[in-house]
Amino acid sequence: MKKIFLLSVLLLNLIISFAQSGKELLTLDNYLIPVNKKGAIIGKIVPRPRERVTLKDPSNIFTVNKEGYITLKKNISITEKSPEHFQITLQNNKGEKKIFVLVKDNFIRNKVIAHRGAWKNQDASQNSMKSLKKTIELGCEAAEFDVWLSSDNTPILSHDPSTGGKKVEETTAEELFKIALKDGDFVPSLEEYLLHIKSQNKTRLVLEVKASQKGKERCEAVADSSVQLVHRLGAQAWVDYITFNFDAAMRIRELDPTANILYLEADKSLEELKAAKISGIDYHFSHFEKDPDLVKKANALNLKTNVWTVNKEEDMKTYINMGLDYITTDEPELLLKLVEKR
Ligand code: MG
Repeated sequence: MKKIFLLSVLLLNLIISFAQSGKELLTLDNYLIPVNKKGAIIGKIVPRPRERVTLKDPSNIFTVNKEGYITLKKNISITEKSPEHFQITLQNNKGEKKIFVLVKDNFIRNKVIAHRGAWKNQDASQNSMKSLKKTIELGCEAAEFDVWLSSDNTPILSHDPSTGGKKVEETTAEELFKIALKDGDFVPSLEEYLLHIKSQNKTRLVLEVKASQKGKERCEAVADSSVQLVHRLGAQAWVDYITFNFDAAMRIRELDPTANILYLEADKSLEELKAAKISGIDYHFSHFEKDPDLVKKANALNLKTNVWTVNKEEDMKTYINMGLDYITTDEPELLLKLVEKR
């Protein structure tokens, strides 16, 4: 009898772990390594592994404990001279492996999010490589950008459903990559953006999953492809997600239990968002005007706050004083001047 019971428990566990491996990705709740902090705790493995996990670490400076925390070894700290990032591999006793990139935390925290990159005053197209490079050069906290799927399922950058006279969702990636933008740029892929952001550790990305015009399944597919690519390239440390589409937000959360996801559509209560494990709100400024206590209410629920699109100096001052976590703007040069003065 006991044997049958144990066998059924074992079977149930196997089913659960298979079900999980089909959906939820293995994550860390933090990928940033604090500088000059000996033995620092970096992040916890989520979901907590059922089996023993071993760590492959060519740099020989990290360790994983029984509770699933990745830490620096006891007497080790990283300094300004250390590399910008380190790759580690976690392996369970089934031989399944997952690579993570841990990043030295030199990230800028000045609240300035360049909306579709820094393009307006930089002779660059929105959502282009140049607008991303300018965002980094200026020293913004992050570059916001928009992702669709091409007809052959490649995540592509475009704000509008069409670019260069072609419908993104009806056109192959190969055709889209031929569309010329300003100053020698072409329509970029999400992969190009992720690879470029990983070349530094000061500026991050705010990835908007666009709501497909082809319905719920396709919306979720944009979310799926984006999250899978971020994980495949080990870019989790650099990427937050935003979306107007609640199904897409839920799909991102299903796949990545620790990603920051901010919701753009003000059609749910803060309590509903909290219950759905959304990390915060990213609302048009009219919502913060209408309810001057919105930031306070969000903070009380531990929800992050971002406002768009704030382009006038007076408004920027208002939102800086309101204490939002992020301010999204087409005029990052101006907002940078204002935050630097403070
Ligand atoms: Mg956007």
